[in-house]
Amino acid sequence: MLSYQHIYHAGNLADVQKHALLAVMLEYMGQKPKPMSYLETHAARGVYQLDDAAAVKTGEAEAGIAKVAQWFASDHPYKRALTAVQERHGDVAYPGSPAIAQALLRAQDSMQLCELHPQEATALRQAMRGSGAKVHQKDGFEAVMGICPPTPRRGVLLIDPSYEIKDDYKTLPGWIANVHRKWNVGVIALWYPILRDGTHKQMVQALEAKGFPKVLRHEVEFPPAKEGHRMIGSGMFIINAPYGLQAEAQDLTKRFASL
Ligand code: SAM
Repeated sequence: MLSYQHIYHAGNLADVQKHALLAVMLEYMGQKPKPMSYLETHAARGVYQLDDAAAVKTGEAEAGIAKVAQWFASDHPYKRALTAVQERHGDVAYPGSPAIAQALLRAQDSMQLCELHPQEATALRQAMRGSGAKVHQKDGFEAVMGICPPTPRRGVLLIDPSYEIKDDYKTLPGWIANVHRKWNVGVIALWYPILRDGTHKQMVQALEAKGFPKVLRHEVEFPPAKEGHRMIGSGMFIINAPYGLQAEAQDLTKRFASL
């Protein structure tokens, strides 16, 4: 039973960290003319309207992208994706990760997106119309394992679970190691929450112990969305991280420290 809906959290500070790194990663990969594959295990609906009652209720976007949009210059790829989505879907629209990819991928690139929730998958198909993206309404772990290694081999996988299933923290390191074994050139990026009770730490230690190549681990902390909330920050663990992402990570660290 899936109850998580990203509309409550779209554009929050965790999205800002994840989406800024994703955008810079895709822009960097796009500098070479060779085509690339973009895959997601957990895509959600792609585009959000931040005046939706659910988004307004939590106030997470208000304390997130609405507060920090000026961190990003107009030529920053995250800002370019934000602008592209607002031009297409209106002034209060916010791009989820699939829409960020849509804004930054080129005609020669391909996109495969998994989303298990039927309503989210339907909305995603609609949001991605005309992009050529394949949307799979399937379990993302199973579907992506079947797709890997993708054609073309150059590419990026974003793994962005809702962690509703607590076992995800235990199973992700092994699952990622299997994907990496099948697709050793793939850029594999996992998002995870930084939790007050440290639940994420064992997973991160297990990932570190795997000895993956060119790892970039980036974590930021921020005030919880509500007093007492478990999530106090956001992390990305990236295998085969493109050179150049480190500079963006350092900038984000400084910006989040200023909050
Ligand atoms: N990546 C999105 C973004 O940044 O815009 C947000 C993804 S949201 C955190 C997680 C999504 O995963 C939810 O929409 C949920 O319905 C979906 N989901 C949960 N379990 C799944 C599974 N096993 N396979 C695919 N999707 C799943």
